[in-house]
Amino acid sequence: MTFRIGHGYDVHRLCEGRRLILCGVGIPFDMGLLGHSDADAAVHALMDAVLGALAMGDIGKLFPDSDPQYKDCDSMKLLDKVIELMRKRGFSLGNLDITIVAEHPKLSPYIGQMRENLAGAFGCDISRISVKATTEEGLGLAGKGIAAHASVIIEG
Ligand code: MG
Repeated sequence: MTFRIGHGYDVHRLCEGRRLILCGVGIPFDMGLLGHSDADAAVHALMDAVLGALAMGDIGKLFPDSDPQYKDCDSMKLLDKVIELMRKRGFSLGNLDITIVAEHPKLSPYIGQMRENLAGAFGCDISRISVKATTEEGLGLAGKGIAAHASVIIEG
């Protein structure tokens, strides 16, 4: 069996008048993330990690933000396409680990649903899916944005 590792990172700016969506979960908050798609930074980092493991570039190459079909689109749908590419190359998910960096809001109540959404997308047991949240103690993005790191191992 071959194992391949991938890493992804993404950040989006917080702004008013947008929904906050992370790992496909709509989170009640007075701001959302600015972006061409639904700006789900966690799913974007995850897709880049899977594409990185496949050495197939990144989501900017696959889903260019100059393309109107991706305007406000559901990033979970884009993740389905990335998973399909992974399967076509003969790989399946080993496990994944995401860290979301956000000063606000508190994300712990939503972590379970985030993990379920991702397990559903990959069609795998939830024990292979880890989502964590942390702050930067007010020292980094400091509430101006939300960032996410993702690591994956794929096997095939
Ligand atoms: Mg992004």
